[in-house]
Amino acid sequence: MSSADTSADESAGGLPPELDDPLFQQAVGQFDQVVERAGVDESLADVLRIPERSLAVAVPMKLDDGSVAVFPGYRVQHSSVLGPTKGGVRYDTAVTLGECAALAMWMSWKCALLRLPYGGAKGGVRCNPRDLSTPELERLTRRFTSELLPVIGPQRDIPAPDMATDDQTMAWMMDTYSMQVGHAVPEIVTGKPLSVGGSVLRPEATGIGVVMVADEAVRRLGWSLAGSAGVVQGSGKVGGVAARELAARGARVIAISDIAGGIHDPRGLDLDRVEEWRRQHGRLGGFPDAEELTNAELLELPCDVLVLAAAENQVTGANAARVTTRLVAEGANGPTTLEADEVLAERGIPVLPDILANAGGVAVSYFEWVQDIQRLFWSADEIRFRLGELMRAALDRVWQLAYGESLSLRRAALVLSIREVATALSARGIYP
Ligand code: NAD
Repeated sequence: MSSADTSADESAGGLPPELDDPLFQQAVGQFDQVVERAGVDESLADVLRIPERSLAVAVPMKLDDGSVAVFPGYRVQHSSVLGPTKGGVRYDTAVTLGECAALAMWMSWKCALLRLPYGGAKGGVRCNPRDLSTPELERLTRRFTSELLPVIGPQRDIPAPDMATDDQTMAWMMDTYSMQVGHAVPEIVTGKPLSVGGSVLRPEATGIGVVMVADEAVRRLGWSLAGSAGVVQGSGKVGGVAARELAARGARVIAISDIAGGIHDPRGLDLDRVEEWRRQHGRLGGFPDAEELTNAELLELPCDVLVLAAAENQVTGANAARVTTRLVAEGANGPTTLEADEVLAERGIPVLPDILANAGGVAVSYFEWVQDIQRLFWSADEIRFRLGELMRAALDRVWQLAYGESLSLRRAALVLSIREVATALSARGIYP
């Protein structure tokens, strides 16, 4: 079987025109690089290249001034072969159907790599969240959730926080869904506040997981995070926590950024003071006793570990040759382009790929869902222990394949995860 010829003007890459987006091309490009090596039959590869289900919705919302604005929203479910789909919801001006499709595909591989019983999904609303008041964000979230009702559910598709969404957003989603079905359904979303069935350690899980994997990787490479210099792009839910976790393991965090730019102190930043400044001023810029720099400059600072925890397409063919680090850890999804991957590989800089490095978030989301379903909650120690076990086991599988067969860590992670999904797909067969 081959892809059905659906239209004469199908894009050159063979993708459906509605998904022909640079980020989706990147995700499919990565898939195509390893699909043969993963031993996936070409007919099954065709099934896995295109998301199972894509929903585009209009999200009308009454603004505080009484006028109505309509925002485009999306939810893409890439594969439900291994279980219900799972993935974040983001509010950002760059959200498109294609971006959600790429992120949903990466969620499928991430869940499979960690051997979680989930497929991948992603969604979002194209808006500038910084322009919206809290009541506007609540109305937007509740209306978006209502539009998603036909496709989400605790055994169907379980949203979580992502860029510019948080535990409050998840509480509104949980409440909206629960009101529709007439009873409380905490397991409909993860990343909720503790008071409505959230899990301890979920807010920190992605950032902690990034550093757990980096720590184990540098140990295998023969050095240690203690005494090393770390640079972190992004200071949100992932970057802020990753910076603290690096410092907790003895690293000096010499630079950190937000969307407007970064701050740099080669002696190591005092992260408590940085956080205090950010809380008071809503930005990092202006922090005393540190040099200010752009996000582009920050990526090129000499360091031992570079954590990318902001957005996609940050290390590209244009700047990869100037990235000066011993290890890149991808806290964000898709921060390194295909071209940059080649340049970094040639320069011998290992990249801990997103589907491995930032999988701590979905791992603890899985623990949250299990706890909600059981109505039985675990301690922080138990969750940290289980998270460590899952992350280290996944890193070990990736490391063995990568160093055993001279593959990059990304290709090894993709081979393992795609094989996992394809094996299940092959066992289930193609319906009908
Ligand atoms: P967030 O909104 O909490 O923080 C994002 C940070 O990046 C902020 O400091 C913001 O100012 C900065 N930023 C945003 N756009 C930027 C740009 N274009 N250039 C430079 N900086 C920019 O979001 P988050 O949850 O920390 O997510 C960051 C990345 O991590 C995203 O790629 C997300 O998909 C990924 N991720 C998040 C989780 C999670 O649990 N939150 C899990 C896995 C992956």
